[in-house]
This record gives sequence, C-alpha cells and structure tokens, in this order.
Amino acid sequence: MAGKGRPTVNDKRDNQYRVRLNDGEDQMLAYCSKATGKPKSQIFRNALSEYYINVRLNELNSQSEYDAMELDGVSMKRVIECPYCGAPNAIDLEEYSTGDCITERQMGPETQHWFDCDDAECIFCRRVFRVTGCITEYPLGAYDSEHIEIKKSN
Ligand SMILES: [Zn+2]
Repeated sequence: MAGKGRPTVNDKRDNQYRVRLNDGEDQMLAYCSKATGKPKSQIFRNALSEYYINVRLNELNSQSEYDAMELDGVSMKRVIECPYCGAPNAIDLEEYSTGDCITERQMGPETQHWFDCDDAECIFCRRVFRVTGCITEYPLGAYDSEHIEIKKSN
C-alpha cells in the first residue's frame, strides 16, 4: 500500500479533551509515564478502559435479570514515604481499618474506607510514624479519591 500521507486506521482518534490537572496529579502522570515508558496519553486511555470495565460490571450487577458477579474491593495497598528519611514503605492500609462510611449514589454505594495506622515502622531507618485518612471507592471496585496523612510519632 504505497499511499501517501498517514495510513488509514479504523480507530481514528478524532475526539479531543482538555483535562486540567493540579501539580500533584501532573507529577503522578509524569511519574507513571517515566516508570512504565508509556506516553502520558496512553496512561489516560488505560485508566479509562479500566474504569469503563468497572462501570459495566456495576451496571450488570444492579440489573436483577443478570447473574451478579462479586466485585473485588478497591486496593488499599500504598507506598508511603517515611516522614523522617523519605524511604518508600509498602503498607496495606486495609489492615488498619477503623470502619467504613457509606453513602448511596446513582450507581450504588460510595464507601469511604477509614484507617489509622499508628505504629508504622520504616523499613530503612526503623523509626515509627502514623498514617491516617480515608480512601473513597465509587462505584464498587473503583478508586474515587483519597486523603492520606503521614505524621511523625512523638
Ligand atoms: Zn525512614
């Protein structure tokens, strides 16, 4: 096919969106792009695909004529940086749960998973710190937002 110009593709990317990011989000995007070697646009598309799959599953689960499929809860595993030395520590915040707060929304429950880990020990400097906050899940199985505080222990 010795045509001129760009080859014809079936899934032309003709739709454009401008997305505003704050500094923290922009840093996350740059970090993921660098770490994975994927372009930033691809990271957005991948995240969208994953979200779409979840929305479809939630939709099906809410319709009684279909067999429901149990959805895994959102992961609460995080890399937490030590407030003393900055070393990354992997912590499963689910193990420090202090309870859930549920609100009904358009597509079922929105759940705030609260946690309080007051004896996290840095794997590098061995000092103890505290991690508190909540991770919000909506719809089921999908990440919505989070607020995590890291404090030095006295
Ligand atoms: Zn440390």
